[in-house]
Amino acid sequence: MIPGEEKTEGGILFEAVVCPDCDDVRWVRKVYTRHPVYTGKCRSCAINQQAQRMGIYSHRSPGYDPDGKRA
Ligand SMILES: [Zn+2]
Repeated sequence: MIPGEEKTEGGILFEAVVCPDCDDVRWVRKVYTRHPVYTGKCRSCAINQQAQRMGIYSHRSPGYDPDGKRA
């Protein structure tokens, strides 16, 4: 898989994207990579960044668990 490479699967266009944090290359739907706020980060790095920015998990964090169990 080459970064920037494209493929079509099931009629959906994908682009090979490198995560700037962990260098992981994975297929991302092209509609997402075109989004103006798309960072190119993989899901786990995006969640980590979000958690760091918030300091701790809060009710606005996607990682918030109402049962009080925290990752
Ligand atoms: Zn990553």
